[in-house]
Amino acid sequence: MTVARILAEKGDSVVTLPPHRTIDEAIHLLAEKRIGALVVGDAEGRVIGILSERDVMRALASEGASALDRPISHHMTTKVVTCTRRASIEDVMETMTEGRFRHLPVVEEGRLVGVVSIGDVVKRRIATVEAEHQAMRDYITMA
Ligand code: AMP
Repeated sequence: MTVARILAEKGDSVVTLPPHRTIDEAIHLLAEKRIGALVVGDAEGRVIGILSERDVMRALASEGASALDRPISHHMTTKVVTCTRRASIEDVMETMTEGRFRHLPVVEEGRLVGVVSIGDVVKRRIATVEAEHQAMRDYITMA
């Protein structure tokens, strides 16, 4: 299965915020959308960072409540690893495991076209393994 198929199933909407918005605004958006990370984009729509709940936790641990008034740019990760729609689910799992993160923006020709989370990957992987097991059981009982 490819990232293109995952996006076709779950949709290609991505929650983004510009870098000058505050950590307080970011946590409200994360809570409202029930997600773990948001992509930070510039005025031209380019990906310039990612802010996950872990960044917020680190910000609060180091600065206390005053971190909430800081701009997102202060605590986001700027070296964002991305993938394309052609990437396989195995490629995504490997990238997430190596990078130790759970979110992967999908970028093509400099444009953000979706985001894949570890939850999306695990859900599809379990469905594939279950389908394989069922096919194997059917084959055995037919024999
Ligand atoms: P996560 O596991 O996705 O909550 O993120 C853990 C850490 O990795 C946080 O510091 C994130 O900002 C960072 N991070 C998340 N996704 C990516 C990504 N695709 N590329 C680079 N860093 C990321």
